Amino acid sequence: MSVRILRINTAGSPVEWLNWQQAVCLHARDLVSWTYGEEVMAVHGGHSRQTGEQTIVHLNSIIACKGKVHQNGRKSPPLTNRALFRRDQNVCLYCGEHFDEVQLSRDHVHPLSRGGKDVWTNVVTSCRRCNARKGHALLGEMSMDLLALPYQPNHAEYLALTHSGRILGDQMAFLRRQFSANSRFRLDNEDSIVA
Ligand SMILES: [Zn+2]
Repeated sequence: MSVRILRINTAGSPVEWLNWQQAVCLHARDLVSWTYGEEVMAVHGGHSRQTGEQTIVHLNSIIACKGKVHQNGRKSPPLTNRALFRRDQNVCLYCGEHFDEVQLSRDHVHPLSRGGKDVWTNVVTSCRRCNARKGHALLGEMSMDLLALPYQPNHAEYLALTHSGRILGDQMAFLRRQFSANSRFRLDNEDSIVA
């Protein structure tokens, strides 16, 4: 079962993805303040000694819990190629072509060899051909242009970027409301790419 449940805090900020076992645990420990979204699963537990009835935990797609608070905006989300390529929709930001993940690379707009940093705001998705062509040059030196500016995703967007399976509609709607204004992230089944 690959369904993921979105854990948020009671202030309404997204915290993390949970598997169903972790969600059941939070319910069992009475840490869930409220739930939201469609029911994704009903988990059958043990039988009550007094009544003989079987307990059933209904899991919704979003659960709000006491406790854990994500430090939004305090530190930047980890920069990985997979998240970077998803941020840019698997599109090379130089030639505008769409590629499979294995054909893509991380390009440093301001090259590392010339003092550029390995940070979200200095990296873009690039096909290998464009990356090789650009080499250690600055954009102006090669008369190459970026189709979109690199940016650092906020935590809500990062959760969407790093989800490995299918994000449920109500989870996506919840996260999208908290994306930053410069977000370009779209799901495969949403509108086509906006560069
Ligand atoms: Zn390219």
